[in-house]
Amino acid sequence: MPYFIDVILPIPLERLFTYSITQAESEFLKAGMRVAVPFGKSKIYTALVFEVHQQQPIAYEAKEIHQILDDAPIITQTQLTHWQWIAEYYLCTLGDVLRAALPNSFLLESETIITKNNDKIINDTDLKDEEFLVYEALHHQSSLKLQDLINILDKKNVFPVINSLLDKDAIVLQEEVYEKYKPKLVRYVKLNSQYSESEKLQHLLEELSRAPKQRDVIMTLFSISAQTKKPVKVSDLSDASEASSAIIKILIDKEILEEYHFQEDRVVYTGEANEASKTLNSHQEKALEEIQQSFEKFNITLLHGVTSSGKTEVYVKLIEEVIAKGKQVLYLLPEIALTSQLVSRLETYFGGKVSVYHSKYSSHERFELWNNVMQNQPKAQIVLGARSSIFLPFHDLGLVIVDEEHETSFKQFDPAPRYHARDAAIVLASLFKSKTLLGSATPSLESYYNVKQGKYGLVEITHRFNDVLMPDIELVDIQDKQKRKRMTGHFSDRLIEEMTEALRMGHQIILFQNRRGFSPIVECTTCGHAPQCPNCDVSLTFHQYKNQLRCHYCGYYTAMLKNCMACGSVELDNKGFGTEQVQEEAQELFPEHKVGRMDLDTTRGKFGYDKIITAFEQKEIDILVGTQMLTKGLDFRNVKLVGIMNADNMLNFPDFRALERSFQLMLQVAGRAGRTDERGKVLIQTYNPHHRILHQVSTNNYAEMYMEQMDERHNFKYPPVYRLIKITLKHKDFNKVNIGAEWYATGLRQVFKSHILGPEFPPISRIRNQFHKNILVKIPPQQSLSKTKKAIVKINNSFLGIKEFRSVRVILNVDNF
Ligand code: ADP
Ligand code: ZN
Ligand code: ZN
Repeated sequence: MPYFIDVILPIPLERLFTYSITQAESEFLKAGMRVAVPFGKSKIYTALVFEVHQQQPIAYEAKEIHQILDDAPIITQTQLTHWQWIAEYYLCTLGDVLRAALPNSFLLESETIITKNNDKIINDTDLKDEEFLVYEALHHQSSLKLQDLINILDKKNVFPVINSLLDKDAIVLQEEVYEKYKPKLVRYVKLNSQYSESEKLQHLLEELSRAPKQRDVIMTLFSISAQTKKPVKVSDLSDASEASSAIIKILIDKEILEEYHFQEDRVVYTGEANEASKTLNSHQEKALEEIQQSFEKFNITLLHGVTSSGKTEVYVKLIEEVIAKGKQVLYLLPEIALTSQLVSRLETYFGGKVSVYHSKYSSHERFELWNNVMQNQPKAQIVLGARSSIFLPFHDLGLVIVDEEHETSFKQFDPAPRYHARDAAIVLASLFKSKTLLGSATPSLESYYNVKQGKYGLVEITHRFNDVLMPDIELVDIQDKQKRKRMTGHFSDRLIEEMTEALRMGHQIILFQNRRGFSPIVECTTCGHAPQCPNCDVSLTFHQYKNQLRCHYCGYYTAMLKNCMACGSVELDNKGFGTEQVQEEAQELFPEHKVGRMDLDTTRGKFGYDKIITAFEQKEIDILVGTQMLTKGLDFRNVKLVGIMNADNMLNFPDFRALERSFQLMLQVAGRAGRTDERGKVLIQTYNPHHRILHQVSTNNYAEMYMEQMDERHNFKYPPVYRLIKITLKHKDFNKVNIGAEWYATGLRQVFKSHILGPEFPPISRIRNQFHKNILVKIPPQQSLSKTKKAIVKINNSFLGIKEFRSVRVILNVDNF
């Protein structure tokens, strides 16, 4: 009897592929183990065994496998089930899921490029003979492919050598341009050692009696060190002594204080948990009890707690319970909210039990964490991760927490699988018969709708921690201000007043502008021409800092123009404004204060994001200008004022969720103000001060926003009432896209009648030289989702079977919002 395996190949094939194996291999192989297999003429791929069986494939003759790569499965049966759900629900292949799920180093293939790791010095003596041969070859040749290795070592089985070289950090696989998460530097101070003698110290204090503020700082330093017996951070000293950083700097300059830096390593935490979790206040306590009760009835519960209500501390209590039972916890966060702030907060409670899974980690680090989770190691009992952590090989998952559940970045848009991590995590939890807690201050309509439909439980916290009041939100009518000449650039007189006051009191300020760059478009005042991206159907954005025009879609850039390209006029005007311009104007208005900026441009570089957060925490920046990056659950203690520069460009965004999003964004930014004792202030500048959403933001009225938005969704047949699948066709030939989309839509209409929208060109119809056209399938509540998807797949296959359309790329996006 012949033996076969079905494998998942890491390429988008509709079906599993079958290979033949020997009887001995059939006894050894199990689902979830890797094998190297030949594919096509000359390719070798790492594939994953899905099933061992004895059915000969009908359409082709099964090839033999190359070799077996594992002694034991590297993924679990539960994962395979989960992946199947993802592939079916999001209309993609298991190969797509496999690629997204496994760290790169699990998936060596013939095209993998191997290079020497120049950051690491390797002693030849540390290498085994075969490793040495490969390593040596890399001295002569900058990179090698799998086939080269096969030639060098004169054998097929080269994977173990690659793996051990990877383990020794001697080589890197290409595509791995990951930046390591670098330790952050924190400023500390201590008394200069010359004052360790009490005589000299006495003398110093006498001398400082004429400079009472400086003396206060020294005394505070003593009392903090005495209390905590730990090194003292500059920021703590400045808080406790109420001294400005200028005074501390004087003391450092006078060599009375000595400044030094510590690295706070955020990847590996070797220490023990050093703090008990906080005692909950009555609101939190009540919420915790309600969550536990709710879990008896519902598998999923939504925690709707206002910003700064202390949701994290409630999660901590739930986590404590689960890990006490020896189970694992997945704590999902949007990538950008996965800050060192939160990581270190959890580490103080749970010490070395916390692991972080993040796309910024190298493949090697992710590989390690994978193994730790697989082996149910204590150090990976709590996984704090961005969306891809749903793919980890959990063994005994006891609880899933999805914080900031309303965040759109949980949805992966490209490439497939186009999954929503919140929804996929809920399914994962259910496979373990475990519970999921969703948390947000501004829940997504779909989650709240699920509550109203009786699918999820709901628990609310309406009080901020310490009963700090919700920030006072004031709307500023900038149209009126303009008429009365009360604007300086983009700043109203009210905003300037409040900023002046906040700075005078030593508070920090956040200014929010949902656009980066200096001004989105440059327009000729003579002929109206605006410079366009040559690859995309979109105007270029002016970036002042580099004096460039840039495309935010494809990365194209060119030097800023001196004259209009169309008519030659030198009068080019800036329309709209971005973060760069806000920063520049703020700096002009407040020249004595430091103005910083946080957006994609300033955080792109190596540890940009953390650097800015740290600088702001350490009060090295007084005014921070930023895009929506600022909204992600950051906990800044000293911010009392938040200015939203222009609410209108959010409200007017052409998308059915624009108003829901605006509400969430504004309340989240507002939530950064006044998180400690004093009430924060928020100013929203707008041309439409009577807009319903702005009113709902200023009164923090989620219920009303929900009702009004849901009315719209009912009326216009949008999610969460209807479901959506977006089909995008792409090709560089405009006509092909046009004709193809018509064909496709006609096919869909025959099945679904009126619930098909389009085909339509999106607002930006050409990106990277490819034309796009969209078709939207709306699925009414009573229509079967799986039948709908089957019908779409059928039409899709016929479409791709037509010769002239074969080169058109089709993207199916389920729940594309
Ligand atoms: P949220 O996640 O709801 O925005 P956080 O959990 O970040 O709120 O809490 C806001 C602040 O209040 C944090 O600085 C946190 O340390 C503090 N806090 C919350 N709960 C407690 C508690 N029970 N005891 C002491 N401090 C708390
Ligand atoms: Zn012109
Ligand atoms: Zn472009």
